[in-house]
Amino acid sequence: MHCPKCQSTKIIKYGHTHYGKLRFRCLDCGRQFVENPSTDPIDQATRAMIDKMLLERLALAAIACGTLRDRNNYRCFRKMVTDVC
Ligand SMILES: [Zn+2]
Repeated sequence: MHCPKCQSTKIIKYGHTHYGKLRFRCLDCGRQFVENPSTDPIDQATRAMIDKMLLERLALAAIACGTLRDRNNYRCFRKMVTDVC
């Protein structure tokens, strides 16, 4: 078996996924993967769109929390960001 990222063969078993599939980890680059992924990797266009949406959400959260003048701004900010995921 090869690492999908760096093609190394230094692979160890690394537990299971949420779906019960065996997970592996590359000792060279640290990449974690499953042998036969059932879903296609997310394509670049989708990744770019998600990144953009997350950035917009971050900006909105920062503005909202910055205007609250609350001592717990950081906690508020974290909560708004993590609620998205
Ligand atoms: Zn690797």
